[in-house]
Amino acid sequence: MSTIVAIVGRPNVGKSTLFNRLIQRREAIVDAVSGVTRDRHYGKTDWNGREFTVIDTGGYVIGSDDVFEAEIDKQVELAIDEADAIIFMVDVENGITGMDEEVADLLRRVKKPVFLAVNKVDNNKRAADAVEFYNLGLGDFYTIAATNGSGTGDLLDAVVEALPEKEEVEEDELPRFAVVGRPNAGKSSFINALIGEERYIVTDIAGTTRDAIDTKYNRFGFEFNLVDTAGIRRKSKVKEDLEFYSVMRSVRAIEHADVCLLVVDATRGFDGQVQNIFWLAERNRKGIVILVNKWDLVEKDTKTMKAFEKQIRQEIEPFTDVPIVFISVLNKQRIFKAIETAVQVYQNKTRRLKTSELNEFFLPLIEAFPPPAHKGKYIKIKYCMQLPTPQPQFALFCNLPQYLKEPYRRFLENKLREAYDFSGVPISIYFRKK
Ligand code: GDP
Ligand code: GDP
Repeated sequence: MSTIVAIVGRPNVGKSTLFNRLIQRREAIVDAVSGVTRDRHYGKTDWNGREFTVIDTGGYVIGSDDVFEAEIDKQVELAIDEADAIIFMVDVENGITGMDEEVADLLRRVKKPVFLAVNKVDNNKRAADAVEFYNLGLGDFYTIAATNGSGTGDLLDAVVEALPEKEEVEEDELPRFAVVGRPNAGKSSFINALIGEERYIVTDIAGTTRDAIDTKYNRFGFEFNLVDTAGIRRKSKVKEDLEFYSVMRSVRAIEHADVCLLVVDATRGFDGQVQNIFWLAERNRKGIVILVNKWDLVEKDTKTMKAFEKQIRQEIEPFTDVPIVFISVLNKQRIFKAIETAVQVYQNKTRRLKTSELNEFFLPLIEAFPPPAHKGKYIKIKYCMQLPTPQPQFALFCNLPQYLKEPYRRFLENKLREAYDFSGVPISIYFRKK
C-alpha cells in the first residue's frame, strides 16, 4: 500500500524546493483546481528502497494574514488526516513566526510521526541559530538546506524509518478493483449499487478515516476485491477540500489496485482533474476502465455517445486502447457491464504470451517492417520475450537498442494490440542489448 508523506509549513519556508528535490525527474501532479489560492503537488519518490508519495501541501496563498492562517490550518489538518508522516518545515532565516507556532500547536497533538525540518541552514552560524526551534515544543529537529540537499539524507532516513511497514499484498489471484474519480462523480453510489448495501456512510465525526483495505465481493458471478479507500468521509471539512481528499485517496487506491474504474461525471466531462487521475493510473501501469456516469442526465441523440467517446480518446492519446462504458448508477444501467469490462481488463493485464508465440508474431513483422537504419547501421532484433512482471512488459533483444526510437516502439505496440486484447492495459516494450 502506498504511503504518503506530507510537507507542511507556512509559505516561503522552502517546501516546494524540498518537494522538487525529492521527486527529481519524476513527474508531479498539480492540483490545478485549488490553484486559486494554492497549488498542491503530488509525486512519487523513494529513499532506502522505500517508495512513497510526497505531497507539497501548498505554496503561495493570496490574501491577508487571516486567510493565510486559515489556509495553513486547513492544510495541516488535511495532512494529519491523510498522511502517514508529516514533515513540518520552518525557516531559520526568519526564525519562529506566529504561524509556525500555530502549526506546531496542531502538530503536537498528532499521533502520527512528525519531523521538524529547519530549512535554509546553509552555514554554521545558521546551524547555531536553529536551536531556537526547540521552543516549538516538538523536540528534536533536522537542519537542512533544501536548495543543496544538505541534511536531507538524515531527515529522510528518519522519515522512512517511521513509515508503517509495507503491507503484504494478499496473493489470492482475485482482481483488485479501485473505484476512483472526482468528488461527486458517483463513486460511492456505484459501489453501493455494486455491493447492495450502504457501506459508504458520510459522517460528521472528525478524523474518522479508514485505511485502504481489500474487501472481497462476489457480484454478478465475478469474484473480486474492492480496494476500499473512500470508507467513511468527513462531511464538515470535506466541502472545500474534497478534491484534495479525492486525489490523495486515488493515489492510495490506484497503487493498491490491478484495475482502476475511473468514474466520470458525464455532465462535467473528462476534465483536467479526471485526466490527472487517469495518467496517475497509467503511470502506475494499472488497468483502466472509464465509466461515464450519470448518462441519464445527458440529452442525447444517436451521435452523442460516439462524440463523447471520441473526445475522451483524444484526451488520452496515445493510450487510446481503453474501454469506455456509459453507465447510469441511478438507473442501474450497465453496472454489470462495467464490472464485466473490469474483469476483462484484468484478464488482459495478466495475459502471458509464450515466448515461441511472441517470436512467431514479432519476428516476421519486424522482417517485413524493419526499424530504420541509423547512420548506415542496421538494427537487428533477434528475439523477444514477455517479462514475468505483474503487468505486460516485453523485451526485444537486438544489437543496437540505443538506436530504436519511440515511433518504432509505438508501431510494435499498436501491432501487438491489434493481435491481442490488451484493452485498458498499459504495455511496456523495452529494447535490450543482445
Ligand atoms: P514554499 O513556499 O514553502 O514552497 O517555499 P519555496 O520552496 O518556494 O522557497 C521559498 C524561497 O526560499 C525560494 O526563494 C527558495 O529558493 C528559498 N530556499 C529554499 N530552500 C532554501 C535553502 O535551503 N537555503 C536558502 N538560502 N534558501 C532556500
Ligand atoms: P462520489 O463523491 O463520487 O462518491 O459521488 P456520490 O456517489 O456521492 O454521488 C454524487 C451525487 O451524484 C449523488 O447525489 C448521487 O445521487 C448522484 N448520482 C450518482 N450516480 C448518478 C447517476 O447515474 N445519475 C444521476 N442522475 N445522479 C447520480
